Amino acid sequence: MEAFSDLFGQIPMTINEGTPISLLVENICKRFGSLEVLRGISLTAYENDVITLLGASGSGKSTLLRCINLLETPDSGKVYVRGELIEMSTNRDGQAVPTNRRQVSRIRARLGMVFQQFNLWSHLTVLQNVIEAPIHVLGLQRREAIERAQELLEKVGLSDKLDYYPSHLSGGQEQRAAIARALAMEPDLILFDEPTSALDPELVGEVLKVIQNLASEGCTMLIVTHELNFARDVSSQTVFLDQGRIEEQGSPDNVLDNPQSERLKRFLSGNYRRTI
Ligand code: ADP
Ligand code: MG
Repeated sequence: MEAFSDLFGQIPMTINEGTPISLLVENICKRFGSLEVLRGISLTAYENDVITLLGASGSGKSTLLRCINLLETPDSGKVYVRGELIEMSTNRDGQAVPTNRRQVSRIRARLGMVFQQFNLWSHLTVLQNVIEAPIHVLGLQRREAIERAQELLEKVGLSDKLDYYPSHLSGGQEQRAAIARALAMEPDLILFDEPTSALDPELVGEVLKVIQNLASEGCTMLIVTHELNFARDVSSQTVFLDQGRIEEQGSPDNVLDNPQSERLKRFLSGNYRRTI
């Protein structure tokens, strides 16, 4: 916590002053061999913020999310989740590694993750997918976990699919189940990596609506998306990543309607597609 309070002096004062910070990413860098994928990324997500991350394929969006929930370890830089600095060090091979496994498990449990490919457990029903982590990670009683899961599945419009296996669901239903599964952990922050990119076009809207409802309930989220109209509606902040750097960031209206850099202008002109 000490280091975190030291950092407050460096955080620009904004209208959010006084709002707790859910996530602070400071100058993280990540390379794979000779490929520099993240080149000094800094981000602040205040509680209730919805940050959309835009960028061409290969710009480092997934790697950034993976560095935040420690599926990858950044080579340098700092990540704080609700003020807690994730401890990292360098091993004998010169690789960055998390230092404290228990901290990693604890922090990961506080971060929801929703992937492009849903990643539901195929051998479990929808309900079983949603209650698994609350029972085994949070230690909830089975009955309590089921009650909570039923509420969440109702919220994402899947009350009638509790006993279905993922293979019997549409992609949109699978993704809504995956969102319910993430919510069941009552995370401080949910990371979405292109949640609608694997869906048939007619199923995109139902998933975006669910995410939009979460935004209006004040859920803090970091969302990689190519759905620009959705980004405009839902974001408090939009970030455009280009070749591992933040090229532009700001209010969605500014970033989407008033792009400054040639790269962002080019990206936007190639990406306006659907409306919801
Ligand atoms: P995006 O999500 O923006 O499409 P990624 O973060 O997935 O981009 O990837 C950025 C770059 O890093 C790409 O060139 C990709 O091939 C490379 N990359 C990602 N993960 C790995 C890995 N584990 N090993 C090697 N290269 C990787
Ligand atoms: Mg990606």
